[in-house]
Amino acid sequence: MQKPNILLIYTGGTIGMIKDADSGALKAFDFDNLLDKIPELRLLDCDIETKSFNTPIDSSNMNPEYWGNIAEIIASNYTAFDGFVVLHGSDTMSYSASALSFMLENLSKPVIFTGSQLPIGDLRTDAKENLITSIQMASLQNLGEPVIKEVCLYFEYKLYRGNRTTKINAEHFEAFESLNYPHLAESGVHLKINTEYLLQPNLDKELVVRTAMDTNIGILKLFPGISKPIVEAVLRSQLIKGLIIETYGSGNATTEPWFIDLLEEAIHKGLHIINVTQCAGGSVAMGQYETSSQLKHIGVISGKDITTEAAVAKLMYLLGENLEAKDFKTVYETPLRGEMT
Ligand code: ASP
Repeated sequence: MQKPNILLIYTGGTIGMIKDADSGALKAFDFDNLLDKIPELRLLDCDIETKSFNTPIDSSNMNPEYWGNIAEIIASNYTAFDGFVVLHGSDTMSYSASALSFMLENLSKPVIFTGSQLPIGDLRTDAKENLITSIQMASLQNLGEPVIKEVCLYFEYKLYRGNRTTKINAEHFEAFESLNYPHLAESGVHLKINTEYLLQPNLDKELVVRTAMDTNIGILKLFPGISKPIVEAVLRSQLIKGLIIETYGSGNATTEPWFIDLLEEAIHKGLHIINVTQCAGGSVAMGQYETSSQLKHIGVISGKDITTEAAVAKLMYLLGENLEAKDFKTVYETPLRGEMT
C-alpha cells in the first residue's frame, strides 16, 4: 500500500510567526523553518510536500483573491495528492474555510484548515498538535479512498465542518465552535470520526473550481436605536448587490414602518437581503414572531442557521455565479455544501 500524499499549504498566521527581536511584534518567518521546528512531521505515516504563499500574510489581510490562489493550488495538485492541509491565521479562518467550501464544487478529498493561538516556536504552543492531527485526519483512508471529503477546520482536539465554524475566543486554545452542527471528529487517545456527520459527495462528479466572488455586499447588524438615515445610506448605495442583516433571536427586527418600507423598496430594486441571526447558535425562523412576519412577506431571504462567515462567502459566491434574479432566493436558501440545515 502506498502512503497517502499530503500537501501542506502555508498562507501565514501566528502558526508560522516569530517575535521580532527589536520591536517584539510577531512577524511571519520563512516556511522552511516550520518543518525544522517540527521534526515529528517526518515520523508521520504519509508523504508531505509543502507550498507556501510567496509572502505569508496575517489572516486579517485575507481576501477573495487569496482564496482563489488557495483554490488554484488545490486544483492544480488535486490528482497528485490525497489530502490538503491549509495553514492559516485563526482570525479569518472561518471565512476562508467557508469560501473554499463554495469554490471547490464536487470536492471528494479532505481540505483541512488549521492554525494556532501561539507561534510554533513558543514553548507552550498549540501549533504542533493542531498541525500533526490535521495531517493525520487528512491522511485517513478507507479502502484506498479518503474518509473526509469536504472542507474542514481542525483546532484544539476537534474537527469541524469549515463552513459551520466561528472564532469565539481570542485567547483560549479552544478558539472555534460550531454551534449548529456536530463535531466531525475528536482527537483523544484515539481519533474518533463521527462518520454519520461527514458529507458524502457524489464521487462520479469532477472537481469544479469557482473563483468568481462578487464583493459588492454588506453586513448590517441591528441594534436598538438604529437610525433611519444610516439604514437608508446603506440600502440606497448604488454599488451594493447583497446585504446580510444580522437580526435578533430567531430572525426578528423592529417593525417600525420606515424600516420595513426601506427594505421593501431595496428588494424591489433588486437587492438581495439575507436574514441571519446575531445569536451564536440557533436558526432564523421568519414568521414565528410578529417581528419577523413582515420580513418574510416582503421577500427577505432566510439564512436559516448559517453563520455570518458562511453567509458572506455564499453571498459573494452566488453573486459571482450571476444567477437569474428569480432563482437567487431559492438557491440561497438551499444547502449547497452542508452550510445550513
Ligand atoms: N492575527 C493572526 C492571524 O489571523 C492570528 C492567528 O494566526 O491566530 O493571522
